[in-house]
Amino acid sequence: MTARDFQTIIVGSGPGGATAADELTRAGRSVVIFERGHNYLISSDYPHDLMQVFSNDELKYTFRHFLGPDPWLEPRTFRRTESDGERLLVGEVNNLPATVGGGSVHADGKLYRFREDDFRMLTELGPAQGADITDWPLTYDDLEPYYTTAERLIGVAGLATANPFAAWRSGPYPMPPGPPMYGSLLTSAAAERLGYHPYPAPSGVNSVPYDERPACNNCGFCADFGCPIHAKGGPGPALRRALRTGRADLRPDAFVSRILVDGGRATGVEWIDHDGATHRELADEIVVAAGAMETPRLLLLSGFANPNIGRNLMFHMQTFAFGEVPYRLHGHMGRSVTHVHDDHVIVDDLAREAAHSAGLPWIKGGLVEHIAPSKVIAEAKLYPWGPEHRRHMRRSPMREHFLGFCMHGEDLPQAKNRVDLDPAVRDYRGIPVARTTYEPHPHEIAASEHHSGLLASILREAGATNLVVATSPTTTGELTSAHSDISIVPGSRHIAGTARMGRNPRTSVCDEWGRLWEASNVLVADSSLFPTISGYGPTLTLVALAIRNVDAFLGRPPLRVARESTSSPAVTVGPPRRPADPVRNREAAR
Ligand SMILES: Cc1cc2nc3c(=O)[nH]c(=O)nc-3n(C[C@H](O)[C@H](O)[C@H](O)COP(=O)(O)OP(=O)(O)OC[C@H]3O[C@@H](n4cnc5c(N)ncnc54)[C@H](O)[C@@H]3O)c2cc1C
Ligand code: SF4
Repeated sequence: MTARDFQTIIVGSGPGGATAADELTRAGRSVVIFERGHNYLISSDYPHDLMQVFSNDELKYTFRHFLGPDPWLEPRTFRRTESDGERLLVGEVNNLPATVGGGSVHADGKLYRFREDDFRMLTELGPAQGADITDWPLTYDDLEPYYTTAERLIGVAGLATANPFAAWRSGPYPMPPGPPMYGSLLTSAAAERLGYHPYPAPSGVNSVPYDERPACNNCGFCADFGCPIHAKGGPGPALRRALRTGRADLRPDAFVSRILVDGGRATGVEWIDHDGATHRELADEIVVAAGAMETPRLLLLSGFANPNIGRNLMFHMQTFAFGEVPYRLHGHMGRSVTHVHDDHVIVDDLAREAAHSAGLPWIKGGLVEHIAPSKVIAEAKLYPWGPEHRRHMRRSPMREHFLGFCMHGEDLPQAKNRVDLDPAVRDYRGIPVARTTYEPHPHEIAASEHHSGLLASILREAGATNLVVATSPTTTGELTSAHSDISIVPGSRHIAGTARMGRNPRTSVCDEWGRLWEASNVLVADSSLFPTISGYGPTLTLVALAIRNVDAFLGRPPLRVARESTSSPAVTVGPPRRPADPVRNREAAR
């Protein structure tokens, strides 16, 4: 056994783990952060400068797994249901990077707050057959002060008054929004004409110099890429603050294989280094922030037996709609997404009508990002070789002529959708890998069908033709696991629900403060905690939740602010929207 060198062990250095490290070291505690991936983010020499190794290299990031994990060495497995047998696929299953900084190193960082009703979905909308919907054990008002702190610490650029559907907020964003992408201005204008409410996406990207980092120069390699100049907020600044206190040690290439437990309390961890040697580290408490698929894996590897572990796995059901315009958009430049609209999260009369025709009580969509479809190599892979290839690439429909949307649709929690340990497949260290069992609820399919029709109407209003709609996961499509391919394997990279928090140990994995029911000195600090996923990206909420729960872990009283909106207007209802205009599949869309 090694000596007890640190008070807290943190597993994972993504947004959740980095936030925990920042909060704990600020409070004077010593921490060691274990990260299974390499370190390309932050120098270990004083003053812990951010490194300069990221580049605009599509092959390196998208196809060669520069940020890990390599799906050959650390695969996951997938099946839709238990009736598929032990697995349908071994490979990449909704992977987020395994590297210092985690998924946020290559996320484009749209950082949304949830709405008030997202925290009480069961109360607001009621149950749906086959789904395990529940209210959160906290309210939006409880989390609001931590959202404000999270936005300040990460550095979010946004316009507080711009979104009529936003929840109340106690202050403005720390930075104004950055410049818009041209295509997004066109889709936003069309959406407004049809009664929608587009607005500049709140982004964890500097629009002005902030926190010792420069403003974004809109290089165009944002989603899926590390930022060459660290204009993205991400976990880098939080890790830098923690390391600068002198109370944090960052250990890359260190995989935690087991939490050690004695008499209902965690005593430390077992971890495997780069050369395959196993070590032990002891501490007073453990923070698990390995991401919503690796956290349940680690809990199961550690022998925790709560039957809820890994269940209620949620991804967003993504609905894509694209259309072509004859003029050039140069759509691949910019921050991947600069405009969004929230109208589809509202369960309005049209949505209720569509739900009833599908035999459902209600359907809820999600936030819609106005997106640019492609990068050059991804586009090149679409076309046949030869003269046709050259012609297509010169015109470049995907990068120059396509307008598009991606809706991150609410995904209902279902106990049968889960992460468990694959009975036979192991990673290169010999450790059982995470197996995903997942199929969408009829709600997601009906919601996607309804909202894709509405999105197609906006594209038509923008003058687009050759419309294409698709979902991820598909319900009938082919089975592949390659990055960015659309198949029955969900591809959203928004993952939640596998160690849900609650007030009842029989129906949850963690208590209302994120502590494991089975060992109260183990704090979960990622989106595994979410009882429902909402229609918004999970990252800002998981960071705000980590700050709140670490505060409580330290015995601090909860922050409170008076519920006085300083910025958001009341929800306004625009002119009536056109009815749904279903485009059911690629063929029909043409
Ligand atoms: C291209 C892209 C775009 C995205 N855009 C957005 C967006 O706009 N908005 C949004 O909200 N979200 C977005 N996301 C999702 C976002 O990246 C995740 O929500 C976020 O990274 C989750 O943070 P986390 O700390 O929970 O987990 P992670 O970021 O996954 O971090 C967990 C870390 O733990 C490490 N780890 C795991 N297991 C172990 C172990 N046993 N031992 C040691 N280390 C371990 C992992 O290697 C990883 O580095 C995007 C993701 C991608 C890929
Ligand atoms: S678009 Fe901006 S934030 Fe994104 S990678 Fe390029 S410079 Fe960085």
